[in-house]
Amino acid sequence: HMVTVRYADGKGWYEPRVEARAPIPMDPASAVLHYAQEIFEGLKAYKTPDGGVAMFRPDANANRFNQSAGRMAMPALPVETFLQSLHEIIKIDRDWIPEDPEGSLYLRPFAYASEVFLGVRPANEYLYLVIASPVGPYFSGGVKPVSIWVTPDFTRAAPGGTGAAKCGGNYAAGLSAQAEASEHGCDQVVYLDAIERKYIDELGGMNVFLVLDDGSLITPPLTGTILPGITRDSVIKLAERAGRKVEERPISLQEWREGAASGRVREAFACGTAAVITPIGTIKSEDGAFTVADGGSGEVTMAIRKELVDIQRGRAEDPFGWVHRVL
Ligand code: PMP
Repeated sequence: HMVTVRYADGKGWYEPRVEARAPIPMDPASAVLHYAQEIFEGLKAYKTPDGGVAMFRPDANANRFNQSAGRMAMPALPVETFLQSLHEIIKIDRDWIPEDPEGSLYLRPFAYASEVFLGVRPANEYLYLVIASPVGPYFSGGVKPVSIWVTPDFTRAAPGGTGAAKCGGNYAAGLSAQAEASEHGCDQVVYLDAIERKYIDELGGMNVFLVLDDGSLITPPLTGTILPGITRDSVIKLAERAGRKVEERPISLQEWREGAASGRVREAFACGTAAVITPIGTIKSEDGAFTVADGGSGEVTMAIRKELVDIQRGRAEDPFGWVHRVL
């Protein structure tokens, strides 16, 4: 199925509908097709051990959606409407939620400029939609470290750009980099900052953390060029609650490489909705490849992963009230 809600200036959001998923007719002059005024979110609904259905921090997705809307000169969507739309799609597509306790129904809320005109200005009409698709466990047969490619050619976002927004354009700009990573036998691309080409920003679809030898965590700061990941935020809150020091600060590729060699950097992991937390195995760049420790799954990484997954799946206490019951 799909949920749709329309927007027009002067009218606001109107005509919420749940209907059979079908192609959406588009005029060739629809603004989004020319200027890419589009934003989206991604989150999961999954079965709880007692047979119910839950989502993880959907209010955080609603807030980020509206942050993205602000950056892309689009109207904010009431948080209630966002949450309601997710409830509706889950209810009607409930049979698509996998029984597998590690599987889920991926939810994709998005909005685009539907107004028909060719001038360059923010549109006056938008369409918001939600579609859903079942996904199996990200890792079948145990968590596997990802390999990453440091792209020498491409940047993801510059200061003042749209890096902190979840807009389609960011991903369009990253497709060449992702293809480059695949050519080098890597799973994901890692972007360096656009100015000095020195500091780690993030991966194609995940944020990055390093675990240092004193047990503390470091992660690149939210300076506007990376996506403020909800998993990233959850990791920081859980780590701090457990008494771990977390520092949000610039991390250079050189610090990572030298720290891996000296033992100062003990583990590296990436995090995002899809894989939750995944160890980073090999880091490949034009200067050669290196691994952190033995390139396997670090102890701290796997402990944080377990803690987070157990909260999400209702197997552990939910200290921050993150799990949102739907059914
Ligand atoms: N960075 C990028 C570029 C992403 O696409 C994602 C996935 N949404 C993330 C980080 C991780 O964000 P989250 O934890 O909210 O999924």
